[in-house]
Amino acid sequence: MNSSSISSPDCLPNMDGIWQETIDWFPTEQQQLKLQLLYAAVVTANRNLNLTRITEPEEFWEKHLWDSLRGVGALISNQSVHKVIDIGTGAGFPGLPLAIARTDWQMTLVDSTAKKIGFIQEIAPEIGLKNIHPLVSRIEELGQQSQHRHQYDLALIRAVASANICAEYALPLLKIGGTAILYRGNWTEEEGDSLELAVAKLGGGITKVDRFTTPISNSIRHCIWLEKTADTHPYYPRAVGIPTLKPL
Ligand code: SAM
Repeated sequence: MNSSSISSPDCLPNMDGIWQETIDWFPTEQQQLKLQLLYAAVVTANRNLNLTRITEPEEFWEKHLWDSLRGVGALISNQSVHKVIDIGTGAGFPGLPLAIARTDWQMTLVDSTAKKIGFIQEIAPEIGLKNIHPLVSRIEELGQQSQHRHQYDLALIRAVASANICAEYALPLLKIGGTAILYRGNWTEEEGDSLELAVAKLGGGITKVDRFTTPISNSIRHCIWLEKTADTHPYYPRAVGIPTLKPL
């Protein structure tokens, strides 16, 4: 896709006030332009690729842009994060907004669907993103490869699978001391108890349940923070499909 093929039917709303009130980050003019280009690219590609059902400007801003950035909380201004992986990134969320916000983070964006990663590869030069590394793979395979296993400071996973499955995907990829953030909607005590047991098998623990509401539609969100405290046993992640068939 070249720049002339990204049409820009609508502008994102001006949300300066909400950024300032809700997130410890504020977009520069250049970053606002990049977010707008991302929006236009998704809407344009969506006509053929069916990437997302969220295409109205305000809803896109809240559910894709704001949500992606708010999910990482205070880490947005953290200086010790360098290598980040977005697992099951789809059309690039939460990875792409974060790559725009933190050009010093090296973002690996993984998805098993080639057309979604193809979309990200095409738009990255248009948006001027040099810090992203798109990859087509099943995450269970990546988790057993030495160039990815135990390599990341931060793993993000939004709308991919149930929490215990997400933990099996994410924890093997982290360095000791690294953080995984599971982006969830609702969250129950029972899910927390079950996740606690799963995470213990994977060499980690739950450190925080961050509950918040989105600023326009007041939808409930929970971001579950896991910390890697010990090497994950080589048995995990199990072979492709097994985490889904037999969740921990
Ligand atoms: N994270 C994006 C978001 O929040 O908009 C996309 C969510 S989409 C519902 C889930 C994505 O996870 C799909 O693109 C799917 O291909 C990918 N996915 C699911 N299981 C996966 C796996 N085991 N390895 C790699 N990608 C996976």
